[in-house]
Amino acid sequence: MRLDKFVCKSTELSRQEAVQCICSGAVLVNGVTATNESMQVHENNTVLLNGVRLTPRDFRYIVMNKPASTVCSNIDEVYPSLFHHLNVDKVSELHIAGRLDADTTGLVLITDDGRWSFAVTQPSSDCCKVYRVQLSRAIPLEAIDGLIMQFKHGLLLQGESELTRPAKLEQVAPKEVLLTITEGRFHQVKRMFAAVGNRVVGLHREQIGEINLDLDIGQWRYLSKSEVASFH
Ligand code: URA
Repeated sequence: MRLDKFVCKSTELSRQEAVQCICSGAVLVNGVTATNESMQVHENNTVLLNGVRLTPRDFRYIVMNKPASTVCSNIDEVYPSLFHHLNVDKVSELHIAGRLDADTTGLVLITDDGRWSFAVTQPSSDCCKVYRVQLSRAIPLEAIDGLIMQFKHGLLLQGESELTRPAKLEQVAPKEVLLTITEGRFHQVKRMFAAVGNRVVGLHREQIGEINLDLDIGQWRYLSKSEVASFH
């Protein structure tokens, strides 16, 4: 990770204060005075601040049931940030692994481990995301098999040239389906249903990989070690 981040994760210093320390020559990496706050350091490098060895805190891994009308961003936008629901230290160091739209509810994963969130979100990891989708138009019984095949084959989303990866569609009720996808394109679920002439009126993420949502709206918990490891 970057040296300024390493210093922050090992102390109570803000990013700006960490940069000041580095620029003033107070930080040594493997015995050499560091001058560049963006240099990459590894956890087993020896980093000293004013002669004291720094050890970064452990990464944090959190699951939350996102309420509607919140944004997956660290700052408030049209709606407030969902981080207001998270009463932990140094919230600004955390980010969401796979954002949801403001009107979407359900499972979000929150971390300060960039490598882990990459493993969760990159399509080649084949990590399944399960959405419960409410639709504006009922899917007639005689149309469901064809639709399942279309989603399995892949859909061409407006403005894109590559088909979506194979997706699994299951009908729960005439206007309700479960959709399992392994990628996270911009507004993907809404655009997939737009591509087949329907409209999403309610969207809730129930599962990512092996993690199921077992929390009430707005609640959060730390992931267990095995849940974290399930993405590596
Ligand atoms: N797909 C969408 O369209 N919106 C979301 O919030 C998540 C997936």
